[in-house]
Order: sequence, then C-alpha cells, then structure tokens
Amino acid sequence: MLVYKFGGTSVGSVVNMNHVKEIINTEGKRIVVLSAMSGTTNALVDISSLIEANKAQEAKEHIKQLNATYKKTVYDLIQDKDLHDVVVQYVNSIFSDLLEAVDQSYSESLHNTILANGELLSTFMFSRLLEQEGLKVALLPALEFMRIDRANEPDNFYIKQNLERLMQEANEADIYITQGFICLDADGAITNLQRGGSDYTATIIGAAIEAEEVQIWTDIDGFHNNDPRYVNDTQALSHLSYDEAAELAYFGAKILHPQTVMPMRALDIPLRLKNTMDPDAHGTLITNKIHGEGIKAIAAKDNITAIKIKSVRMLLAHGFLKKVFEIFEKYETSIDMITTSEIAVSLTIDNITHLKAIVEELEKFAKVDIDDYMSIICLVGNHIIYHPDTPELFQVLQDVNVRMIAYGGSDNNISLLVNTSDKLETLQKLQRYVFEDGTVSVLKN
Ligand code: ASP
Ligand code: MG
Repeated sequence: MLVYKFGGTSVGSVVNMNHVKEIINTEGKRIVVLSAMSGTTNALVDISSLIEANKAQEAKEHIKQLNATYKKTVYDLIQDKDLHDVVVQYVNSIFSDLLEAVDQSYSESLHNTILANGELLSTFMFSRLLEQEGLKVALLPALEFMRIDRANEPDNFYIKQNLERLMQEANEADIYITQGFICLDADGAITNLQRGGSDYTATIIGAAIEAEEVQIWTDIDGFHNNDPRYVNDTQALSHLSYDEAAELAYFGAKILHPQTVMPMRALDIPLRLKNTMDPDAHGTLITNKIHGEGIKAIAAKDNITAIKIKSVRMLLAHGFLKKVFEIFEKYETSIDMITTSEIAVSLTIDNITHLKAIVEELEKFAKVDIDDYMSIICLVGNHIIYHPDTPELFQVLQDVNVRMIAYGGSDNNISLLVNTSDKLETLQKLQRYVFEDGTVSVLKN
C-alpha cells in the first residue's frame, strides 16, 4: 500500500486540492495524510497567542476572518447540495468551538486543541470532495490511533493496532484520509508532532502498515543541493540515502520534518519527495542505496547558541566532559555540535529554554561564554569525510568566518558554525566553490 502526504500548499486552494485529487486517483488502497491549508496553523497560533494575552476581542476578529476564508473555500469546492451542507455544518462547528475557546482560561492543552483544527478542517473538506467525485473514501480520525508516549516517541504498538482496526472497520474504502501533525499524548490529551509534523505522521503510518513506499508531496521538486531561499540556481537531488536525508532535514533543509526519515530507515521503506505543482518532475528518492560520493548538499540551521566551557581547575581533567554532559542531560537539552581542545569544550544547542540553569551549573566548575545568533552550515554527502577532494574545502573556507568545525563525527556530515549575519554569504560562497566553479570538485549523483 502507498502512503501519500500533501503539505499545506498542496491543499491550500481549491485548484490545488483538485490537483491532489488527480494525483491520488490511482489503483488499489492507499492512505492520504494531509496538512492544514497553508497559513491556517500560523493563524491558529496567532489566535492562541491572543487568547493567552487576554486579547479576547482581537482573537474573535481573527477567528471571524479565518472563518470567512473557509466559507469561500467550501463554496468553491463542494457543489453537491447535500455534501455542501454537511461540510458547512462541520466548518461552522469548528469555528463556534474556536469562539468558545476564547472565553476559556489559557493552557497548553487549550493551545494544542486550537492548533488541531487546521488538519481537522482540511481532511474533512478534502474527503467530501472525493466523495463528491464518487470515490470510495473513508476519513480515519488521527486522534483515534496516533499517540506518543511519555518520551514523546510514537507509541508504535498502539498506533498499529488502532490504525488496522479503523481500516478494517472502513474496509470498503479505497482511499483513507487522515490528519497529519495531530496526535494524543500518553494521557490521552490532544497534542502534536511539532510544527511540520505531518511528514512524520506519514512515515509513522508507513512503518505501521509496512507500506510499499511513502510519498511526501510539497511545492518543490525534492531536496535541493542548497537552500533555494538564499541561493540561486540550486538543483534538485534525485537520490539520497536515509542518512544523508536525515542529516539534511535535521540541519535545516525545511522540506522535511527532522524525524521523518527514521521510521523508513528502520524498515527500509522508500521515501519519495514529489512536487504537487509539477508531478512529472523526478523529485528525490530516499532509500538505503548510495549514489555518488563527496559533497552533495548544503543546508543551514538558525537560532543556534554556542557555549564555550573552559575548565578552571586543570587541563581537561578526566570526568570533566561527563560532568558537562550530565548537566545537559538533566535539562533535556540536546547538543548539536561539539569540539574540544585541551582546556575547553565548545558546543551548540538550539533549545535555550533551560540555558540559564545550565550556565549556572556549569559555572560551578568552569568559565562559560555564550554566543547567540549563530547558524550551523551543514555539508552532507555519503562518506564526505573520506572523499579525496574534501580537503580542498578547507582552502576555500579561508574566506569564511568560521567559529567551529565538526568533521568526522559522522561520515556523511561536515558542520560549520558561523554568525547568522555571515550565513548568506557563506552559503553563496559554498555554492560557487562546491557546485559551480568546481574549485572543490564533487561527484555528481
Ligand atoms: N500544519 C502543521 C504546521 O503548519 C503541520 C504540517 O503542516 O506539517 O506546522
Ligand atoms: Mg512541511
């Protein structure tokens, strides 16, 4: 069975929803995971923030505005009178729940409940569109099978059992539609898989049903060799290995939620990235196969904080690093990059929720310096560190203001830490040196 996932732009207008309808009009049973229509989750975040800030009137205005856009979409999407009425009723009930939420006291649970509405709306509307076309469709409520455990990991056993049960109950359907992003927590409260989490929903489902392939459809033709938002003439990559894709997704390539690749790698299920706006483009196929060597792609991750920890007592005393890591572990803060010298260790984090407490504890035995507004630039390619041309990279980096380098931690990744203000220039220089001038040669895949 195939699992398809369509992102916010793909379901962001009536025209695009009709494109999606064509794409999934294939043979056999399939599962279709949808994001909220583009802009909706952001609008819901704004509404939730206004409620938190006790700005009830403004929150209501925002809700009414969003409601008006949905009214228009439903009008343009569903012509069948009965189905139209069903959808209007559903949309109205969601918006009246939202208006009621304004008068409730703010909590994280209220926030998560508000955010869930985007995917509930898009899937309801889209499933009725398919029904209007006479397709055999069933809507599987994600909140009845998608659950995470206390460690925020998917509860795979629960998911598989409940998903299979729901599919069995709707056995006559060819197309199963479900919501991306939203799930239950271990206590049964509504939560989500973090922003962009619909991709992850699709691969969790893909693993649960041991899908033939999972396809993630967005508005770009796959992973590019550099960030198209900052660099011109980037190129789509036709093939990546799971490891390469995981590193790129983690280190900033916005196309994929960072955890998406893992469930596929575990079961060796192909993951294909496709462009809804250009379905004939090859896209990126992610498998365990290795295509080419050397630097294949560059990505950047912002909002990085660097922490330099200098041992005050003695040169890297044994047990020093253990003490450092224990503090980060205690505050559940993961470390991205790390380099050490004889007397100091520098590391980076992207979650500064507990930074103050971490620094206080570190200062009991070390001198601590903090640099924020940093970015990690990540160069990815299979066995990149062994490639004979990679050393040339260090020559070209003379031109770049690098604060830290991580080389050798993984065979597939070289990470550079730069000031965010130097990011654009660094990405553009690397694009030129690595992919254009051939200053650093790369094997094309
Ligand atoms: N709608 C959610 C978001 O905007 C999840 C997703 O689109 O993947 O983050
Ligand atoms: Mg996304």
